[in-house]
Amino acid sequence: MHTFACKDIGMKCGFETSAKSKDALMKNISTHTAKTHNMTSIDSATLAKINNAIKS
Ligand SMILES: [Zn+2]
Repeated sequence: MHTFACKDIGMKCGFETSAKSKDALMKNISTHTAKTHNMTSIDSATLAKINNAIKS
């Protein structure tokens, strides 16, 4: 199981998600960041932070 919490990348946000695969997790994260943080795409710096913050 892979888990991710938005606060781990410095967001003041209580969102947490988990998924069986990293692909599914990234999908959850990108849906959330698009809807809640108005990120239409995740830039490479943010992506690196996300990858560091994912616990598996
Ligand atoms: Zn968030």
